[in-house]
Amino acid sequence: MAILAPDNIQAAAEGNASRAPGFAARPASWPDRLRRSALVLLVAGLALIALVVFGGLQPLGAIAAFVCITGAALVPWQVHDSDGSRETDLGANPVETAVARAIVAGMPDPNVLLDRAGRVIHLNAAAAQLVPALRRNELAQFALRAPEIVTALREAIATREARRTTYLNPVPVDRWMELIITPIPVPTAFGGVDYCMLLTFHDQTPLRRVEEMRADFVANASHELRTPLAALSGFIDTLQGPAREDARARERFLGIMHAQAARMARLIDDLLSLSRVELSAHVRPETIVDLVPIVREVVDGLEPLAAERQVEIEVALSETSVAICGDREELLRLFENLIENALKYGASGGKVRVSSMLDVSPEGGPEFRVVVRDFGPGIAPEHLPRLTERFYRVDVGDSRAQGGTGLGLSLVKHILNRHRGRLLIESVPGHGASFTAGFPPAQAAPEA
Ligand code: ADP
Repeated sequence: MAILAPDNIQAAAEGNASRAPGFAARPASWPDRLRRSALVLLVAGLALIALVVFGGLQPLGAIAAFVCITGAALVPWQVHDSDGSRETDLGANPVETAVARAIVAGMPDPNVLLDRAGRVIHLNAAAAQLVPALRRNELAQFALRAPEIVTALREAIATREARRTTYLNPVPVDRWMELIITPIPVPTAFGGVDYCMLLTFHDQTPLRRVEEMRADFVANASHELRTPLAALSGFIDTLQGPAREDARARERFLGIMHAQAARMARLIDDLLSLSRVELSAHVRPETIVDLVPIVREVVDGLEPLAAERQVEIEVALSETSVAICGDREELLRLFENLIENALKYGASGGKVRVSSMLDVSPEGGPEFRVVVRDFGPGIAPEHLPRLTERFYRVDVGDSRAQGGTGLGLSLVKHILNRHRGRLLIESVPGHGASFTAGFPPAQAAPEA
């Protein structure tokens, strides 16, 4: 991180060659002024002596005239052209002061202060880190080369109106940045006004990512809904047309339509559950519940599916109660998803084991775990980190054939987050998969 030494700043402030145009110069010191006026005073002195000797001027009058000339030569009547108006130059540039530097340095976002020609006066550490090529006293356009920035800066300087632009900063990784250029009027020593430009950068990348995720989500949800809807309207057309009198076809098509309608209902259910859990994600459930009967209830409810898939559910749950702070409905949903997935995707293993244990969390505290283990084909390691993403499936066709929505594990993750728990997925391809839901135990005893 480039942090500029105060010496450099002072040098920049005092360097005449690099001084920002339009800003006042420091007044010269008294010895400097004497040196600059020496020639004038010498000529005036010689002229007065000549007038006394040859012109009959009284010595007292000559001395008085010399004092006046000296006074006039030493007062800094230095005039310069500023922005078309002539301003007297008597004060230090107000934006080059330590106060202005400290204000820019103290800003949390990357900030750069430019003079009205676009030359850098101050920049803070965040700005130096964001654009390492920025140098004090150099034109910012040399370092900020994105065409959007150059245009916005040129316009802001010309119109003295604020400009806002976004651009892609590709180094070291792609980042979407927003730049706001604010012209700041700076009063000069004698009532004039000059302008400097404050450049403020905001990192918009997280916002853009959220926006992209939202757009992806809407696209995925509508795609998932449109597929069964297209099937339904296709079968309705067939039943009204060619298959109108075919009783067997009607029976078969109605079965398919029923399945498609159920799939749409499941998807809407999952979407609603997901948004409900997300809305309350920051509020941890307060009710104390016993995990064991909840898991047992889910297992009992899924026995018909297990029988249909010819899978045996082996239950090894704790004999004593396992109290956690939880939302019963959400926990039912969580275990339903995990056990149903094991029955659907791991059916070829013929067995699913549901067990619970008290263990130690990675932070070292106690953790109640419920493990759902199947002995099916397992999951390849490259899919594991993405399984809890919405609509992510290892095999889309397989998931649809099983009536999946691609939202189950995402819901599981959100429910666990709300319960301050964690999900652990382990799998060795060919040897099944295990999904572990870990919960912090409730501090108090279970409610009656
Ligand atoms: P879906 O509704 O498709 O089941 P999930 O979010 O529950 O959505 O699961 C995402 C994907 O993870 C599934 O489509 C499936 O490919 C994979 N998966 C989940 N559980 C298992 C499992 N026990 N064995 C193998 N693959 C699984």
